[in-house]
Amino acid sequence: MIQNTKELLVNQYKISNKVLELYEKAIKDVEEVCNSLDEIREFNQLKVLKAFQEERISDSHFTFSTGYGYNDMGRDSLDKVYARIFNCESALVRPHFVNGTHALGTALFGNLRPGDTMLSVCGTPYDTLHEVIGIGKGNNMGSLKEYGVNHKQLELTEEGKPNYIDIKKILSEDPSIKLVHIQRSTGYGWRNALLINDIKEIIECVKALKKDIICFVDNCYGEFIDIYEPTDVGADLVVGSLIKNIGGGITPTGGYIAGTKECVERASYRLTVPGIGGECGSTFGVMRTMFQGLFLAPHITMEALKSAVFCSRIMELAGLNVLPKFDDKRSDIIQAIKFNDKEKLIEFCKGIQIGSPIDSFVACEPWDMPGYADQVIMAAGSFIQGSSIELSCDAPIREPYIAYLQGGLTFDHAKIGILIALGRILK
Ligand SMILES: *Cc1c(COP(=O)(O)O)cnc(C)c1O
Repeated sequence: MIQNTKELLVNQYKISNKVLELYEKAIKDVEEVCNSLDEIREFNQLKVLKAFQEERISDSHFTFSTGYGYNDMGRDSLDKVYARIFNCESALVRPHFVNGTHALGTALFGNLRPGDTMLSVCGTPYDTLHEVIGIGKGNNMGSLKEYGVNHKQLELTEEGKPNYIDIKKILSEDPSIKLVHIQRSTGYGWRNALLINDIKEIIECVKALKKDIICFVDNCYGEFIDIYEPTDVGADLVVGSLIKNIGGGITPTGGYIAGTKECVERASYRLTVPGIGGECGSTFGVMRTMFQGLFLAPHITMEALKSAVFCSRIMELAGLNVLPKFDDKRSDIIQAIKFNDKEKLIEFCKGIQIGSPIDSFVACEPWDMPGYADQVIMAAGSFIQGSSIELSCDAPIREPYIAYLQGGLTFDHAKIGILIALGRILK
């Protein structure tokens, strides 16, 4: 770090010498890991570029459709670009998905029928899916359960890997299992994200027993971390949010569903209605940011990943328990930090907020959030509301007080935000 930057941090942000010492050590330690990410980024950038060129994307795709949105060229072509990138038959990429949960719910409702069972093989699904499935603490009104769709779940092993013995057993015993739900990212848990190879093994295990079972992957936070996506290793459906990795930080809202033609089509009838599916829906001028965000995504995702690697190392040097470790192989952009202390957790989140470009003057506090069972604190000084490809940190207020840090449109900004946050808990 050059002298002037240091001076500014010390004078302006009251960063202590102790924090700066940790910084110097951490940044050296992570150098090799960060450099190793460049190859993945380059490959994915090429993959995206190639898809744009093959679909002959031009200025005329940044159309502004209204009303029914018939023949919205941009919308139809973006679906095809996504299908190429995910190496699958079909995709449904829409600003009409209000978030990742909506896209996940749409794909589940579209592909499950009364009497079917959904099997989660990575333990409890992400918090906001509980109400969708019908295992939430609320009234579960309108949930899959209310429509007669059952849910079963298997825990991961102590090593955080899928339990293949139990998966085989339950699949051979229960003929109602129609869909296997695989969650790539950690969510609000304490485990490493599933690697593409783990996802491949789950899918192979399921398909070897019953090839008609839909292998469904919640890919939130996972796009462009690897050179392969779950659809490259046999997933029938992958779903994610456009205000995470794949929106590149500039797509204003939305979600995507990609996979086999049949599964995506079924989901499309839930987004709109049977008979219409993905063929309607005006895009009111957002297509350019959807294309451009996708184009930027391989780069931005790696800025966020480097931020997570750095955060892991510096927090570990500061004596905290972190997951993953800085040199673990990663499959999402999440960095979990265990505080074992409610006040420290809150202070850390407040520090991230103070280091943000937007709303840096706002103090974030724990709050009841729609879709979450516990109170949640969210530091999100982002250009796009709730965008977690931008530097953000959130935590459910429950023991053992784990914060989940993710994002960073630029590694430089993330480093500063993390230093400010760390400074507050070392005081
Ligand atoms: C973020 C996320 C979701 C969806 O969250 P939204 O806030 O609705 O976009 C679902 N699953 C996982 C694992 C996630 O990380």
